[in-house]
Amino acid sequence: MPYKDKQCRREWARVYMKEYRLKHPEWARECKRRYREKHREKMNEYNRRWNKLNPFKRRENHLRWCDKDPLRKKRQWQKAQAKRRKAGYLSVKIIQEVYEENIKKYGTLTCSLCLKAIEFGQDSIDHTIPLSKGGTHEKRNLSIAHIKCNQRKGNRGCYTD
Ligand SMILES: [Zn+2]
Repeated sequence: MPYKDKQCRREWARVYMKEYRLKHPEWARECKRRYREKHREKMNEYNRRWNKLNPFKRRENHLRWCDKDPLRKKRQWQKAQAKRRKAGYLSVKIIQEVYEENIKKYGTLTCSLCLKAIEFGQDSIDHTIPLSKGGTHEKRNLSIAHIKCNQRKGNRGCYTD
């Protein structure tokens, strides 16, 4: 039976290649890298889809990635901190103006993200363009939002619900 023979051979080749790869990790890595380079678009698309389907595994992978090089996380944080510093300091005067403008515009303190009134103690300053994305503490980049709405918006820079 030629069919069975072919399948047998394929199976054998698969096992053989697996062993070969284990014996030559350098070579396997190089192969993988070359493949990734050649099919970058395809890989990106695949990764995007995978991340969407496996949010928890993605988080797990991320944590493992952080564990591998603890300094990496620190460096990232430092980078973000530098961006924050570049934005300058938020002055009380500007905050006051933002609050006043919000009340003037809506009649009562209102969330600029969900457009509902804000109860006492639920307000926060929202950066339209997040500091991590190069936004500043300038008045035109500031608005008032619920703490919850603000957190939900996170770093994405746009509000989607
Ligand atoms: Zn809100």
